[in-house]
Amino acid sequence: MIAFDFAYHKPTSLQEAFELLSEEGAIPIMGSTDVVVKMRARRLRPKAVVDLKFIDELKFFKFNPEEGMVFGSAVTMNELIEDHPEVKEHYPVFYQAIKKVGAYQTRNRATVAGNIGNSSPAADSVPPLLTYNAKLKIVSKEGERIVELKDFFTGPGKNVLKQGEIIHSIIVPYEGKSIGMYYKLSRIKAVDLSTIGVALTVIDPEGKRDIRIALASVAPTPLRVFEAEDFIRSKELTKENVEEFAKIVQKNTSPITDARGTKEYRYEMAYVLPIKILREIGLYKEVN
Ligand SMILES: Cc1cc2nc3c(=O)[nH]c(=O)nc-3n(C[C@H](O)[C@H](O)[C@H](O)COP(=O)(O)OP(=O)(O)OC[C@H]3O[C@@H](n4cnc5c(N)ncnc54)[C@H](O)[C@@H]3O)c2cc1C
Repeated sequence: MIAFDFAYHKPTSLQEAFELLSEEGAIPIMGSTDVVVKMRARRLRPKAVVDLKFIDELKFFKFNPEEGMVFGSAVTMNELIEDHPEVKEHYPVFYQAIKKVGAYQTRNRATVAGNIGNSSPAADSVPPLLTYNAKLKIVSKEGERIVELKDFFTGPGKNVLKQGEIIHSIIVPYEGKSIGMYYKLSRIKAVDLSTIGVALTVIDPEGKRDIRIALASVAPTPLRVFEAEDFIRSKELTKENVEEFAKIVQKNTSPITDARGTKEYRYEMAYVLPIKILREIGLYKEVN
């Protein structure tokens, strides 16, 4: 039971939502799978919740090679998984990650915009989106702006959104064929947040072989490790280079100990998992 008063609004247009969200203490919601948990625990006491999922303009999906994939913030994770085969075909690492969010029932409500808006370092959809150079279209009464996802997070649960701003859509460029893996370690196999999540994406695997890597649950914000990517670019995937790549990933992390794992375990896995993924996707053959 949530035992405090708050108003619930259900706007059907962006203009209406902008007005409602201009009130201090009003927050946007989508699936509310994060918000309700926090409200029940009294960690969040909004004066009003503004439910955006009935705004038609936020419920669209499109893909073409020129613009990439663009989808509205009200699209649920299950809709992305089940209704849009382009997600699995062109963004396989993102597809794998959203399939690992919660349970089927959770994904029926949960949105990627909510996962991003919640800004947890453990958000599973974020590391793959970072490797695909995703951007956000943010709208408000004042107009719109595009923010690179890598510049969106400012700390655990914190981001650059100002009062009244709404994530309108998620824009994911298409840079060619990609392969890769989202490796999620958690305490149990079923519904749990990650102890550590590693997204390794290889753009154009048979050509320029551009390796990108981003991690969840190892730093105050989701972390893309450009330094490791720069190191491995154009290099042979020898034992020495792959181990150095993983060492650079590891050194960029700053994990903490919490209920889901110790900082030592996370630090160790930040080295082990990049190598394991390279092996599992068949790019690194060294066996030992
Ligand atoms: C049982 C359970 C299991 C879960 N398992 C996982 C898991 O495995 N991995 C994982 O990453 N997460 C997990 N979660 C957390 C949660 O489901 C996800 O973070 C989900 O993607 C949140 O989406 P939502 O639409 O429900 O967001 P909401 O709860 O509606 O909103 C979350 C935050 O985003 C903001 N927000 C939402 N939409 C917008 C918008 N359009 N513009 C601006 N701000 C916005 C809200 O104000 C709020 O701060 C789990 C939650 C539950 C309850």
